Amino acid sequence: METTAWMQLHSVMNAQRDRRPLARSTLRRIGAFALPHRRRIVQFVLLGIVGAVLTVATPILAGRVVDAIVHGSDPGVVVRLALLIALIALGEAALGLLNRWLSASLGEGLILDLRTAVFDHVQRMPVAFFTRTRTGALVSRLNNDVIGAQRAFSNTLSGVVGNVVTLLLTLAVMLALSWQITLLALVLLPVFVVPARRMGTRMARLQREAADLNAVMGTRMTERFSAPGATLVKLFGRPDEESAEFEARARRVRDIGVRTAMVQSAFITALTLVSALALALVYGLGGWFALRGSLEPGAVVALALLLTRLYAPLTSLAGARVEVMSALVSFERVFEVLDLKPLIEEKADARPVPKGPVSVEFDDVRFGYPSADKVSLASLEEVAALDTRGGAEVLHGISFRAEPGQTVALVGSSGAGKSTIAQLLPRLYDADEGAVRIGGVDVRDVTAESLRATLGMVTQDGHLFHDTVRANMLLARPEATEDELWDVLGRARLDDLVRGLPDGLDTVVGERGYRLSGGERQRMTIARLLLARQRVVILDEATAHLDNTSEAAVQEALAEALEGRTAVVIAHRLSTVRAADQILVVEAGRIAERGTHDELLALDGRYAELYRTQFTKRGYGQDVPQSADESVAVAY
Ligand code: ADP
Repeated sequence: METTAWMQLHSVMNAQRDRRPLARSTLRRIGAFALPHRRRIVQFVLLGIVGAVLTVATPILAGRVVDAIVHGSDPGVVVRLALLIALIALGEAALGLLNRWLSASLGEGLILDLRTAVFDHVQRMPVAFFTRTRTGALVSRLNNDVIGAQRAFSNTLSGVVGNVVTLLLTLAVMLALSWQITLLALVLLPVFVVPARRMGTRMARLQREAADLNAVMGTRMTERFSAPGATLVKLFGRPDEESAEFEARARRVRDIGVRTAMVQSAFITALTLVSALALALVYGLGGWFALRGSLEPGAVVALALLLTRLYAPLTSLAGARVEVMSALVSFERVFEVLDLKPLIEEKADARPVPKGPVSVEFDDVRFGYPSADKVSLASLEEVAALDTRGGAEVLHGISFRAEPGQTVALVGSSGAGKSTIAQLLPRLYDADEGAVRIGGVDVRDVTAESLRATLGMVTQDGHLFHDTVRANMLLARPEATEDELWDVLGRARLDDLVRGLPDGLDTVVGERGYRLSGGERQRMTIARLLLARQRVVILDEATAHLDNTSEAAVQEALAEALEGRTAVVIAHRLSTVRAADQILVVEAGRIAERGTHDELLALDGRYAELYRTQFTKRGYGQDVPQSADESVAVAY
């Protein structure tokens, strides 16, 4: 009989493996996560064994008490036995507490490991991943699934280990007391095993569906309840349909919840019933044997008590199957995220960017945005299958060189590829062919840290975290002093503004904080850049929402930022273009013309046309920000 519990456990693994080939490797990986906790796990197992021995001891002692009464032994024997039972009860209580402490610290330790692993991994994903992934779905992975995996892990551990030992010991003692009764009582066992198998698979499927639905609802809420999302719903939304759709999902989650509860409870009820029937059998058959003198009365009592202790571990072992299933589901969902290989990684032998002023060079660079299946997960995007089509080539052989300290201006119509060129420098994406070099070294060969320290980016719409001005600034250089902060704020023409804020440097800005205007935000990004003192600047000039005062202040701040630095500027203002050492006219992913302002005007080609149509109008063009620009804003 002892194989039954193992068989049951095995069938769990097998069922899983049959359904999804991933399960075996999932188990191995769970093992890897459990490995650092092996000392606790061993202690836990040992504790389980001691607990099992104590569980079996009490019924045997109770049987002895009955025998002592029946045989009219010395009352001292009964008292001693009773004291022993009391002692065991105390031991069991202490063990229970210790057991809980061990399983809690194991489980919480696992949450910690998984959470930090996922956070760390997701942080390293390329920008392309974040432009595709829904934040809500990602956060749900980090919270719900990690906790699900932990809960199932510690429940399984405490459920399985202790119960298998208890089960084996109980069975051994019962068989020794009366093999006939034991075997008869166990005839009812298959009643447990068969439905447990069926239920496990069904529950796992339902749970996966519920997890997906919950994630979809979470995503909806984070998206719709953000200020821009809510605005969009107010302007264009169909609130009734939105609510109906949400309700349909919520209803399904409710239905799954009720169904899961009912299936579970039906199962437990059946188990209780079966164990009660088996108990009747022990009393009836045992009593019969005792009356015929072939069994001690104490043995009947011991058997009955042991039986109640036999069905309890069986019940939880049957439940453990479900736990293991949902643990695998949760673990798989977490591993799925951990398995996403970041497209952009630092090489093992990466070196720092050379010291001193650096040049920037594009050497016959070709690039297409990566297809969705390379950067994301279908389950994080709410689509059944990801688009595998390779992205069309956007840059077709871009070559140029900015010498140290020079400014290169990129001009051209919207969608020409200017932002894409800018994004290849900080490795938000990597070139498919050709090379992007900084200080003569391919950006793919330098360390991420030195690249960050060398290269600064100012986006059209500087993104600020929901945090204080100080924290947003210190992002650039955590060790900066108060004086340095005020110095760069002054140079970015922001000092008066910050002084006037309710809490000065400690005023919370960003999405939910003090709202800065577009121009102010951009100057804040420039101040941050000045603080970071990076040697290369990539600048996307603002095209809109700057009034004349703001415009002038931004211009002055920019002049400070570009001073003595190598710069690549996506230019929209005539003044910037005129001042550039080299102007590149980008057209449909190619450089159509290059030269200085005067040279290009003399050429009377595309630049001259742009000059006439765009730059002479109010001094800057009407270029529309691209989605790619926004993704840059997220990264910096
Ligand atoms: P510009 O900055 O000159 O306005 P972009 O570099 O933003 O142009 O865009 C160049 C081309 O790349 C456009 O056709 C645009 O649709 C495409 N593109 C931009 N960002 C992405 C992206 N994240 N994924 C796929 N295609 C993109």
